Amino acid sequence: MEKENRERAGERPRENGEETESGRKGIRLPEAVGEIVRRLEEAGYEAYAVGGCVRDSLLGRAPSDWDITTSARPEEVKRLFKRTVDTGLAHGTVTVLWQGSGYEVTTYRVDGEYEDGRHPKEVAFTGELREDLGRRDFTVNAMAYNEKKGLVDIFGGQKDLEEGVIRCVGEADERFGEDALRIMRAVRFSAQLGFSIEKKTGEAIRRHAACLEKVSAERIQVELTKLVTSPHPDYLRIAWETGITRVILPEFDRLMELPQNNPHHCYCVGEHTLHAMKASPADKCLRLALLYHDFGKAECHTRDEKGIDHFYGHAKAGSEMARRVLKRLRYDNDTTDRVCALVYWHDYRIEPDIRAVRRAVSRVGPELFPLLLQVKRADLEAQSDYRRQEKLDWLMRLERLAGQIREQGDCLTLKDLAVDGRDLMAAGQKPGPGLGRTLQALLQMVLDDPSRNTKEYLLANLPKET
Ligand code: ATP
Ligand code: MG
Repeated sequence: MEKENRERAGERPRENGEETESGRKGIRLPEAVGEIVRRLEEAGYEAYAVGGCVRDSLLGRAPSDWDITTSARPEEVKRLFKRTVDTGLAHGTVTVLWQGSGYEVTTYRVDGEYEDGRHPKEVAFTGELREDLGRRDFTVNAMAYNEKKGLVDIFGGQKDLEEGVIRCVGEADERFGEDALRIMRAVRFSAQLGFSIEKKTGEAIRRHAACLEKVSAERIQVELTKLVTSPHPDYLRIAWETGITRVILPEFDRLMELPQNNPHHCYCVGEHTLHAMKASPADKCLRLALLYHDFGKAECHTRDEKGIDHFYGHAKAGSEMARRVLKRLRYDNDTTDRVCALVYWHDYRIEPDIRAVRRAVSRVGPELFPLLLQVKRADLEAQSDYRRQEKLDWLMRLERLAGQIREQGDCLTLKDLAVDGRDLMAAGQKPGPGLGRTLQALLQMVLDDPSRNTKEYLLANLPKET
């Protein structure tokens, strides 16, 4: 019987899979999801795949995870499956472990006010799928699917998917009033999917944007990161137009009003920032570095007697501002350090000469340097045509030289140096901070000429102790 079921389940998806490949949409439940839904149904309950996985399947994209919604109460779900985790019992969520993966199974519910994005303060379970779909944020996120009933689309999600529209389920003002994070989610989904925001939903966002003040920095950080690492990071412009950045990132609003009357530029600082993010690969540190790379320009703006704008020192100032903002938004230390270093170095003028590049790689760090070149490329692509080819040629030479240095395996850091502190002491140097200075001097010698990186050469050419 089980095998038969599986074969039957296998047949239908294959047809759907073909549809997807030919550009038409179909939903193919992974085997585990099909089995979980079937087991719940056999026990007399309703169960559906729901939310993001249905949306992504209909778009022909691979869902990141599969959520299940069911009429069964959490304790009943726990009874039906051998291995479960109590993920959020009070909110009706049990994770079912199935062949090494976890699937969140959540009881149909209606929500009260939200307190942390995933979890409303109070929930009431319901036996109605319609009510559960009605508490969801956007029509494209409010569809359910199972193999027996097919697609359940009560709020016009499929039509909005086809038209590329983010629209609240029900009254937009009410929905944003219940949970202000939905304001950020609307813009984030529009950037991820390349969708526009429906008029009434957009108007309600403007009216409620100020409420984002009450939302925790952690939750805002998650949505902001998803927005800037999406295929449309420049949709941050929508967040600006609707008054969202004024609350969560007021520094950015200043950039949108900061002109750059300078031949190298054709946009104001804010628009330049949006174009630079768009020109870069969707890496988190890279996109965040581009978001913050010119933040310092607001502090360092001067205009000369010819009316040309200059921003001396903006990279260092920007890196300090980025640190404050990233801290405020509760980014982890590693991300913060990497992003701030990229902002700090983004305007580093490196000579296209192998020694200069080797020194630059050593200063910036061999791991971060390739990212820095990508920051520079995106920055350049968002500038005017003035001396563009010259700048691109220069960047290409830096890229080539960095590649050559990597291939040669040149010594770039103290840990690659052929001597260490112990060697220096064995050669008669006194312990203490002088050792570090000597090692730094030796590293500079080796950066000039990697063939010097042997114990014999270095010990024979020790600089005078400082
Ligand atoms: P992603 O691909 O980013 O995971 P998703 O649609 O799965 O997208 P989740 O945050 O994982 O988004 O939420 C799962 C589903 O729960 C959503 O599709 C939506 O139906 C519902 N949901 C999540 N957060 C909210 C919210 N703040 N308000 C209303 N419904 C929400
Ligand atoms: Mg999800």
